[in-house]
Amino acid sequence: MSSGEVAGRGGGPERVRIRVEGIVQGVGFRPYVHALARRLALSGWVGNDGRGVFIEAEGAAEDVARFQRELPGQAPPLAVIDRISVTAIPVLGERCARGFGIVPSRDGGRRTLVSPDVATCADCLAELFDPSCRRYRHPFVNCTNCGPRYTIVRDVPYDRVATTMASFPMCRACAAEYGDPGDRRFHAQPVCCPRCGPVLRLLDGRGGEVAGDPVAGAVAVLRSGGVVAVKGLGGYHLAVDATDAAAVAVLRSRKRREDKPFAVVVADVAAARRLCVVGGEAERLLVSPARPIVVLPRRADAAAGCPAVVEEVTPGEGRLGVMLPYTPVHHLLAAELARPYVLTSGNVSDEPIVHRDGEAVERLGAMVEAFLVHDREIHARAEDSVVVVAGGREIPVRRSRGYAPLPVRLARPARRAVLACGAELKSTFCLVRGERAFLSPHVGDLESYETLRSFVEGIAHFRRLFGVDPRVVAHDPHPEYLSSKYALDLEGVDLVAVQHHHAHIASCLAEAGEVGPVIGVAFDGTGFGADGTLWGGEVLVADLEGFTRVAHLGAVPMPGGAAAVRQPWRMAAAYLDAAFAGSAPEGLAVRERNAGLWDRVVAVARSGVGSPLTSSAGRLFDAVAAIVGVRDGVTFEGQAAAGLERWSDPAEEGAYAARVEAGRALVIRGDDLVRAVVADVLDGVDGAVVSARFHNGLAAAAVAACALVREGAGPSGAGSGLGTVALSGGVFQNGLLLSRVVGGLEERGFRVLTHHRVPPNDGGISLGQAAVAAAWDAAGPR
Ligand SMILES: [Zn+2]
Ligand SMILES: [Zn+2]
Repeated sequence: MSSGEVAGRGGGPERVRIRVEGIVQGVGFRPYVHALARRLALSGWVGNDGRGVFIEAEGAAEDVARFQRELPGQAPPLAVIDRISVTAIPVLGERCARGFGIVPSRDGGRRTLVSPDVATCADCLAELFDPSCRRYRHPFVNCTNCGPRYTIVRDVPYDRVATTMASFPMCRACAAEYGDPGDRRFHAQPVCCPRCGPVLRLLDGRGGEVAGDPVAGAVAVLRSGGVVAVKGLGGYHLAVDATDAAAVAVLRSRKRREDKPFAVVVADVAAARRLCVVGGEAERLLVSPARPIVVLPRRADAAAGCPAVVEEVTPGEGRLGVMLPYTPVHHLLAAELARPYVLTSGNVSDEPIVHRDGEAVERLGAMVEAFLVHDREIHARAEDSVVVVAGGREIPVRRSRGYAPLPVRLARPARRAVLACGAELKSTFCLVRGERAFLSPHVGDLESYETLRSFVEGIAHFRRLFGVDPRVVAHDPHPEYLSSKYALDLEGVDLVAVQHHHAHIASCLAEAGEVGPVIGVAFDGTGFGADGTLWGGEVLVADLEGFTRVAHLGAVPMPGGAAAVRQPWRMAAAYLDAAFAGSAPEGLAVRERNAGLWDRVVAVARSGVGSPLTSSAGRLFDAVAAIVGVRDGVTFEGQAAAGLERWSDPAEEGAYAARVEAGRALVIRGDDLVRAVVADVLDGVDGAVVSARFHNGLAAAAVAACALVREGAGPSGAGSGLGTVALSGGVFQNGLLLSRVVGGLEERGFRVLTHHRVPPNDGGISLGQAAVAAAWDAAGPR
């Protein structure tokens, strides 16, 4: 932040024009400025425009100086100030109207930042449950410090007329609060009350109105085992009683979601503690204004007297995604139901979350017994964000509601505006204007028309919101990704293809505000490699301009391509065949379980037909998970690897040895790990020990590879002397592997960069692409 202070000349009057940029709209910034100016007896005004907040202030020189000094320091809690610039202008004196006012918003430039949505604050929550308050049980209570933002904003500047609250004229009481600088609701754009605000209603599955109190009615449906569609901030959710196994099973079959975990809402932190182990950082995240789903270890001792969350919510999982209520409706449901409830995106399988009222009845009607809806329109989708805690720090898994569209500041600003289109799974896009990279909310797996439409609409909305007309477009080199096809179809732009794992490492650099070079370890499922094989266990020496592949896992065939992703036992077959040179030992359970197809799959792997070579760390995890007996098939990405992590005994210190061999690039011998796993499995060593030794062994091999690169053992000595390692890729959501790799690297004196603001998985790819494309464009004219 740069803050120029205009020097005072004695006590004579002065006038300054101040511009404040950052998250300064919809967070109570103008009332704050107003109060500060009045306290210092200044005259002038404050207003919003497309770039942020503009101020003119006049008064005694020392007061004007003090105003500038204090302005950034006491800003409202939700404000994020990027820059303050000050210009001295002629004093108006007599001609200046007395007092300080808030003036109407001006449009211009569209450079402002839009705030993410904010969970109901403590003051509003108190009002919600206070019978003497006029907003008692009002499902839309909000104030300057909380409430909907991004999801209701149609345009900037952020004013009520540019939101979906435009159709709700304020009543006299609300207008009085809105206009009173001393009130918590002063210029709170979504302010409303039972007399003037949106109305909550309960509908049956066909959309017919149900009489009576809508919350009580919805709770009755939940209690009877029914599914309720609940209109939330960024879309419709599906809710069921999380203590009712039959209800959860019904939800699973209707949503066609076999065993992917659901998240639950609990009333407060105390309730979360009854279900899960909640550490300090987890508690901070649970109660934070962003209110993400926090994935927590379940308590082994299900607390007595507390209704248990049934196993069907998270089949086979030792962990549970927990979230506290973040809208008044969620609070009312939690209080009235008095037990945890499942809250999952309102969609079928992996489609985008439903957010329009018309679509809701059409697409969700067959899945629910009732709809809990209202007439405040959702303008932009935002699914719930998901975070995990590892090493006492937040790691985003899905960055969406509550976080988007907060920008990441790039160390190397873009010369021209950039659009980065992301990859395929967990898709996001990213727009860059100058030094700010606006990462979209989670769009979903870009594999269907519905998701593609959501992606395209999202880009259009962001372009309008941030006034960006991209001239440089970054994309994944994979020709079949819909995001690549979208990019390649654009006209009049410069295209930049950014290799998948380079983008991963660049995303880690970008969120840290660094430019490299670093040694980057990118472990993930699979991405299009520069040599035509599928990469995913890569060590790169990378900066924002480019990369050298200095080490990687040894490549093995992926028998049947995508089939091998769904059936980890196929990877076990391929790895065993490679590790034992065609004569894998007898007696392995994985082979017996899949005896019918085993030989054919091995033959497919050897033939190379439909069996691309891959150096993927995710596929190595799959193979080991199948050999250890975690699972042979998966219904969602990363399921087998997550299972292997869960099985591991974190106290186990033993590690399998894997060679790191010189070649064109260093080769990490994953097959060494597989042979060691097999030996222990055949010896009857406990699965928890085998899993842990595998994690420890892979981590040690990655650390060894980094150390060799630093010593100059990489191709052409690339990376020689580098002391920083960046870790990225979806595999680093694995807390055990992450902690082992970080620990090993730090022991060897490396500085380690990990993800804390954007996901290590493909949800962060667009940020990395954007940073690379911005650096490419900044490198010079072409
Ligand atoms: Zn509030
Ligand atoms: Zn009102």
